[in-house]
Amino acid sequence: MRRAPTVLHLDMDAFFAAAEQAAKPSLRGKAVVVGGLGPRGVVSTASYEARSFGVHSAMPTAQARRLAPNAAYLFPRFTLYRSVSEQVMELLGALSPLVEPLSLDEAFVDLEAGGVAFDAETARAVGERLRADIRARTGLTGSVGLAASKMLAKIGSERAKPDGLVLIEPGTERELLAPLSVRVLPGIGPATGDHLRRAGISTIGEIAEAGEDELVRLLGKAHGAGVYAMSLAHDERPVVAEREGKSVSVEDTYDLDIHDRVRVRAEVAALADRCVGRLRASGRSGRTVVLKVRRYDFSTLTRSETLRAPTDDPAVVREAAARLLELVDTTGGVRLLGVGVSGLADFTQEVLFARTTAGEEPLALAPEPLRVTSPVPVPSVPPAPRWRPGQDVVHKEHGPGWVQGSGLGRVTVRFETPYDERPGRVRTFAVDDPELGAGEPLPLVRGTGEGEVRPGAAGVS
Ligand SMILES: [Mg+2]
Repeated sequence: MRRAPTVLHLDMDAFFAAAEQAAKPSLRGKAVVVGGLGPRGVVSTASYEARSFGVHSAMPTAQARRLAPNAAYLFPRFTLYRSVSEQVMELLGALSPLVEPLSLDEAFVDLEAGGVAFDAETARAVGERLRADIRARTGLTGSVGLAASKMLAKIGSERAKPDGLVLIEPGTERELLAPLSVRVLPGIGPATGDHLRRAGISTIGEIAEAGEDELVRLLGKAHGAGVYAMSLAHDERPVVAEREGKSVSVEDTYDLDIHDRVRVRAEVAALADRCVGRLRASGRSGRTVVLKVRRYDFSTLTRSETLRAPTDDPAVVREAAARLLELVDTTGGVRLLGVGVSGLADFTQEVLFARTTAGEEPLALAPEPLRVTSPVPVPSVPPAPRWRPGQDVVHKEHGPGWVQGSGLGRVTVRFETPYDERPGRVRTFAVDDPELGAGEPLPLVRGTGEGEVRPGAAGVS
């Protein structure tokens, strides 16, 4: 492991929600929840103000509404998030050729490989300058972790949040890790965490104390040895330059082989949901669903199915994974299951969210699950303007604004831009007012986003 804290992990703070607050002055300092807004919707990001009510990402939006009924609930505007992400990734790319993005707003950077830092002092200076540059360029804050390994750098940025920097001095890692939950270690999911807890191990320090032999006994050879090494802060994983991940996958190793077919099906369904959660967190969708099965005898099989169109619908991924499972014999027992989605494409949520029926209250409507395996269904109701909370609009007389809500044939718009210091005025129009049209996201900082926001991407379908 390197001796200097020159692995940097950047994580933007409450990214989608912070971008909405920057774009909409009336929401600054307020509880904001970005995500799917139907009954089946899930929270993508909650602002820190919303988190104080207990709202967090991956929570069903219906539950969030009960906890924070007065928060602003907005559809995601991925066009904007992607353009801000590009600005951030460009700043990271200027530091090093080795930048490993994990999602739109998170990445590892190898500062040593970029020749910009070689010890704690220079690394800290680079991290602070990066945070200032991100703020100037995007108007948003990001937190930075610096350490001698990826695992510790990520723990550092988590501790730095929000809007901070934490540098973990090499040599202090074990002390820092000891009191933390085992779940902090990469590769320890809920099932492994429970298994360790039953064995009396709940902190990372207790893993280190238990010793490698005990971990191998509990988790098997490869997994146990890996977890033990991580508990000692031994993490040699290099920062791998990859423009964008080509697939998203999750897998679980089971402490005891699973023989029960019903349980195997349930595990596959749960993995599919987790996989979609990660897919959505990265703002992407994919066409190929992959199932991985490692059997009792360590034979590993993968089966895949390619859909007609990209999806990020949990029901679609779950069903595809279930079909693939039917192709695999698991009678001898299963020790590992994984579900992945590859062939990642731009986000399909625009399509999913656009299926609101005219004349009904959009906030109360769930987009029907879109079965992309069959031809995309044509709505039976004639197309009419559909206004979604958070959407950009332009009015001929009042200029740019965004949709606060719509229903009963009317749409409420707040006219304000990222450059206004005070909340703008609210006006209500008929949904088919000819003066009102779809707008484009404005750059959060004036003059920084030209040419990066694709025209028409926020248009009403
Ligand atoms: Mg983040």
